[in-house]
Amino acid sequence: MENYFHSFGRGVGHIEVICGSMFSGKSEELIRRLRRAMMEKRRVQAFKPVIDNRYGGTDEIISHSALRLQAHVVRNTEELLRRLEDRTEVLGIDEVQFFDSGVVDVCARLANMGRRVIVAGLDQDYSGTPFDPMPHLMAIAEVVDKLLAVCSRCGAPANHTQRLVASDERVLVGAADSYEPRCRRCFEPDLARQMPMPLSGDERVTDRVHVDAPKAGNPPLRRES
Ligand SMILES: [Zn+2]
Repeated sequence: MENYFHSFGRGVGHIEVICGSMFSGKSEELIRRLRRAMMEKRRVQAFKPVIDNRYGGTDEIISHSALRLQAHVVRNTEELLRRLEDRTEVLGIDEVQFFDSGVVDVCARLANMGRRVIVAGLDQDYSGTPFDPMPHLMAIAEVVDKLLAVCSRCGAPANHTQRLVASDERVLVGAADSYEPRCRRCFEPDLARQMPMPLSGDERVTDRVHVDAPKAGNPPLRRES
């Protein structure tokens, strides 16, 4: 996947999307590209949404493999633009699925202005529904890389994020241990709905934060079974 990037000359803007399930190495790949850009003497800024406080809310992007990179923690795209420096040539955004739909236009504008924009995010939620705004970002990007994790059940390449606790919230923040990667065959999208609710003292559930409910009139696709 490296070869694409050298075809874009310095100052030729474009968008790269790194997507996949949880535990597929998205943050690690984002950090790798941003570090490489730094070695190439590009001016780099990294951003992540404030909602991502999985590892204590630090101002760093941290991969599951414990790679770290300094990042600005921002509440929305407006704050991202405010903190973006004029001289920045390469910007990375982790957990981009947590941004509002305005992030799509912002990424396009920044690329039009000559910036290299690298975004990483979940392409599907726990029910297998595409996670807006990722589909839009993937459509307008020059480069899309879909990473696969390893199915925790059978070891096959995994495209899905299996929720292991009962909840119909779209996102359980700070609950990485409530998920595992699954392949298409082992993925059970309705598992979270079928399981009995745990006792109220279960902090994995009481910690949950409601981020993005499915929009009214636009229900998530359900599997016929
Ligand atoms: Zn499997």
